[in-house]
Amino acid sequence: MIQAIAVENWLDNLPPRLKEWMESRLTKDDDYTRYMKDGRDFIDEHEIWKLIKENRDPTPQKVRSIIDKALSSKECLEPEETATLLNVKDENLWKEIFEAAGEVKREVYDNRIVTFAPLYCSNLCVNNCLYCAFRRDNKVVKRRRLTLDEVRREAERLAGMGHKRLITSYGEHPLSDANYIADTLRVIYSVKVKAKKGWGEIRRVNVNAAPMTIDELEMLKEIGIGTFQVFQETYHHETYYSVHPPDTIKGNYHWRLYCMHRALEAGVDDVGIGVLLGLYDWRFEVMGLLMHSRDLEEQFGVGPHTISFPRLRPAANTPFVQNAKYKVSDEDFKKFIAVVRLSVPYTGMILTAREPEHVRREVLPLGITQTDFGSRIGIGSYSECYTGQEAERQQFLLGDTRELDEGIRWLAEMGYIVSFCTAGYRCGRTGERIMKLLKTGKERIFCKLNAILTYKEYLEDFASEETKKAGEEVIRKELEEVKELVPKRVYEKLLEYLKRIENGERDIYF
Ligand code: SAM
Ligand code: SF4
Repeated sequence: MIQAIAVENWLDNLPPRLKEWMESRLTKDDDYTRYMKDGRDFIDEHEIWKLIKENRDPTPQKVRSIIDKALSSKECLEPEETATLLNVKDENLWKEIFEAAGEVKREVYDNRIVTFAPLYCSNLCVNNCLYCAFRRDNKVVKRRRLTLDEVRREAERLAGMGHKRLITSYGEHPLSDANYIADTLRVIYSVKVKAKKGWGEIRRVNVNAAPMTIDELEMLKEIGIGTFQVFQETYHHETYYSVHPPDTIKGNYHWRLYCMHRALEAGVDDVGIGVLLGLYDWRFEVMGLLMHSRDLEEQFGVGPHTISFPRLRPAANTPFVQNAKYKVSDEDFKKFIAVVRLSVPYTGMILTAREPEHVRREVLPLGITQTDFGSRIGIGSYSECYTGQEAERQQFLLGDTRELDEGIRWLAEMGYIVSFCTAGYRCGRTGERIMKLLKTGKERIFCKLNAILTYKEYLEDFASEETKKAGEEVIRKELEEVKELVPKRVYEKLLEYLKRIENGERDIYF
């Protein structure tokens, strides 16, 4: 186990070792060149812009035929089809696109929203990304790496709120390398806290960290990593190099671009890709995400489990954000989400608490499948009770800090059921298998039943009276629907399971 290390002035104390470590991270070109075709990556900028230009001014018939295809096939769209949607100007046609995006979401994922919370374990970082408060040159940020006891305390607080899924996050640094990440996962999975009737525990830990080698990813797979997330930030090469300085590890576009290829090769079934909106033209980024998804499908038979699309947020001493040339407006954000939804219909789409409540309300129906509540992103914030935000502890500022209980009530009032289910993963319904089940609609029923069971657990163990009331109403409606959908014996089993949960039994699933 890693011991607690004093990390103050880490940059001043470590440079020679740090430099050596940084160089050692990037010595094997083969870790990405072998996935390339004739030495070229899958982002052909010339081709992407050509597609966007050639499909200008589409007729309404053409747009509608693409919408129909997205609704019926559940496969990725062809690049020219996505480019066509990106060229729509008519606001009424956009309304049709928004409606179709919502329909795809409902067909594949129903009215379920999965929830999670971020857990920042360390903000030590050797990189210098211009948009991030944790960049190594930013002297105003308080640097800290949580000890494993502190990680445990954070996880206990989160499990005590009712969270079952976390996304852990780390800067890139030898003190937060794959071994440290592995230790944090072990600690988090071992947490168990008392709740009103049952207990709280974290059942799935997703990881957002720097790209890794296949050996490192195999080690994390062994421990039970959930989704491995790394965002390319921007697929546009020149922009990428301009915001990620060349003397950093992150400055290597291809090491990052192919990290999901390595993850899939390492057997990590669920991979999450993403872009940071505000760095480059959002339409180009949609095409980049599509190309990335298609390349993963082509080479590994499985696309991304999730797509994320954070928008730039203010961050301490980070003037890049205020001056960003490609900021995405709320209206374009909606268009981005809807076109991604139609272009990669089977993927989960993550909306985070970076967005304020009014934006979340508006974009949720366009195809969002996961969102976080009760999030605190300062290092150590959950257990040290920082109720507000503290810029110099955070990577950026959040737009919505509502607690989980309030978030669940808010969603219930809009007709969404929050799923805390992690059964699919634990029964091997991951990767290619889950993709097939999602595309054919077969996962829908399993998920619906397990969503009801885990929601009930939450209501019994953690909900306020007000949320419990709103939640019970959601369950009543769900049961009416399920009764029509499943054989009588399954419905009766579901009722029996709900009774058992009321009596204090936990972790029952189909
Ligand atoms: N250090 C890891 C890395 O760079 O991949 C994890 C970073 S963090 C948990 C996840 C994401 O936050 C980054 O990949 C980036 O897209 C996003 N991010 C960074 N700075 C941001 C800002 N100012 N506003 C919004 N999102 C930001
Ligand atoms: Fe480090 Fe990640 Fe921030 Fe870049 S985005 S400076 S890699 S924490």
